[in-house]
Amino acid sequence: MKKIVNIKLKKKIDHSYPVLISSDINLAKEIKKLKLNNNYAVITDDTVFKLYKERIDQQFSKEGLNYKFILFKHGEKSKKLKVFQKISEEMLRLGFDRKSSIIAFGGGVAGDIAGYIAGTFMRGIPFIQVPTTLLAQVDSSIGGKVAVDLKYGKNTTGLFYQPLKVIIDIDFLKSLPDIEFNHGMVEIIKHGIIRDAKYFKFIENNILGIKKRAPKVLISLIYQSCLIKGDVVQKDEKEKDLRRILNFGHTIGHGIEVIKNYRLKHGQAVGCGILKESEISHKLGYLSKTDIMRIVQIITKFGVKHVKYNKKRLLNIIKNDKKNLRIKPGLEPAIPLVLPKKIGKVMIRNFSLDELKGLV
Ligand code: NAD
Repeated sequence: MKKIVNIKLKKKIDHSYPVLISSDINLAKEIKKLKLNNNYAVITDDTVFKLYKERIDQQFSKEGLNYKFILFKHGEKSKKLKVFQKISEEMLRLGFDRKSSIIAFGGGVAGDIAGYIAGTFMRGIPFIQVPTTLLAQVDSSIGGKVAVDLKYGKNTTGLFYQPLKVIIDIDFLKSLPDIEFNHGMVEIIKHGIIRDAKYFKFIENNILGIKKRAPKVLISLIYQSCLIKGDVVQKDEKEKDLRRILNFGHTIGHGIEVIKNYRLKHGQAVGCGILKESEISHKLGYLSKTDIMRIVQIITKFGVKHVKYNKKRLLNIIKNDKKNLRIKPGLEPAIPLVLPKKIGKVMIRNFSLDELKGLV
């Protein structure tokens, strides 16, 4: 005898959320508008805490929000399971439950850790992104990718888990060191190259305003980048196809990051990756000389320089990239690279390892 029980779980879920971009935002008032249970864990790193504790205390207590800070040490090294576990346990110890919410307050590291905890704590609780670095404001806070690093690679355990709202206050950028600001600029330039020639021109025309961090220019910049990232994510939330174009510069950039043992910061490494992948595109006859010169010119204005690396090691790392497509176990993988055809337009081409040997 055989019986079958069908569990019907077809459901339509709306994960839409707004991204607010402005200056002088009252965070507590914005958060209250979401009408969540009044119990918030503010997860942040020690640097951001020191800089902005007072502002949060003032705004949150004035609006009657119940909240507790939970801290971790700043930097990529904190993006690991040990920290994830420590914070999750701290949340339980402090009495947070399935009706509580998380505020991810800080750079991409805070967003990735806090988002991963939000997606798993009590099987998922709401979270709000309040990004404080330029990179987090234009990139990591949007799209719902949350993760931590394992010994064998960056972002190797994680989820797609969307926030309820992203609140971007450009005032946080006033305290951001230039080197961190430039990392955000690398992602911004990437957005122009992959999707929007007019936006690229806007960046070229506003270098001075960007460097001065003029509020009007910053808001326009962040808005345009969020539109581009948002559009790509909307069309391909789970990185099945289109979203892969956001990896432009990241395959080689990530390899360089590993070779340099993470001493070269992520944004710098991605900048080098953008230079190298553009160069490959030019060598193969896709990208014109004028366009590659414009890319080199703009990216070097934000501190990115070519770095020397061991080609053999780079190829070895690229070979094991989690984005590769292995047709059959044991076979050499096809290595997809995002290559610009012209500013504003990219394509994805698969390479064999042999082909790449002469190009990197
Ligand atoms: P980060 O969070 O480590 O921040 C960089 C440094 O800036 C830290 O030392 C931090 O304490 C400090 N900082 C943050 N805000 C500040 C402020 N307002 N003023 C002064 N200092 C401030 O790093 P990041 O560059 O923001 O993000 C990098 C991380 O983001 C990486 O782990 C990367 O993997 C991840 N990322 C995730 C996605 C995604 O889609 N989830 C996308 C891109 C990058």
